[in-house]
Amino acid sequence: MKAVIDPRAGFCGGVKRAIHVAEDVLARGGSLAVKGELIHNRLEMERLGRLGLEIVDEAQATGGKPILVRTHGEEAAFFERAAASGAEVVDATCPKVLRSQKVIRRAHEEGRQIVIVGHVNHPEVVALQGHCDGRALVVKREEQIPAALDPSQPTLLIAQTTVAPEVFVDWQERLTGLIPDLQIFDSRCSFVTRRQQELVTFAAEHPAIVFVGGRNSSNTALLYNVCRQANPRTYFVENETELDPAWFKSIDRVGISGSASTPMWLLQKVAEAVETLVAA
Ligand code: SF4
Repeated sequence: MKAVIDPRAGFCGGVKRAIHVAEDVLARGGSLAVKGELIHNRLEMERLGRLGLEIVDEAQATGGKPILVRTHGEEAAFFERAAASGAEVVDATCPKVLRSQKVIRRAHEEGRQIVIVGHVNHPEVVALQGHCDGRALVVKREEQIPAALDPSQPTLLIAQTTVAPEVFVDWQERLTGLIPDLQIFDSRCSFVTRRQQELVTFAAEHPAIVFVGGRNSSNTALLYNVCRQANPRTYFVENETELDPAWFKSIDRVGISGSASTPMWLLQKVAEAVETLVAA
């Protein structure tokens, strides 16, 4: 039995950058806190916790230790509160998310109605809302056109960076024609789109796939479903303790892959555990 790690798996550029920033501050002996999980992977968060990164809540985030802003970004008011309290901010917002925030701020200043395709409680969407005074309408897959949408208003249509392509295309089609002045900004992350295509190829090349990721990560959920559609023998685990030997009966190869928030060290650990389990 050979466990083959997906050569294209591992962190996206935004996550790599944020972790590098955190590790750099902590390696220089500095203290650092983050509001919520830096990335949606419990095991990687535990590793960063051992290096000294502390998870804090909103109340603690603008006082005490320097605060790291996650790849998802923060609302404009967060930076104002931090400045007012004298808290040091280390900004690791992904450049792609910063670009969305800028587009939303400009549209808001122009008086455009803003429609965000995404999940209303996702931290990236919450932060985007905080760059247009909370005035955006948030819509998701197969949802009705909101009653609050005014088709006579100039409108910006934008997406959470991890939204599936077909969901954004669906909203483009539904609003084009309905809204005469519709500006569409495709803010979806090219890494996520490319990963989906690469994952389909990898999944089809192996008799079975073990997909590794955090249960609370939307990118993990999206890529796991892509993988499962390409190869129905796809099994989800958060770590090596969830492997089931029955999955590997009568096959000599298994692919190991993960999402943009799954660390490579964890994929290696799962691959080693698969080979050990089958050899036992
Ligand atoms: S998935 Fe894309 S947008 Fe999100 S943090 Fe990674 S690089 Fe940035």
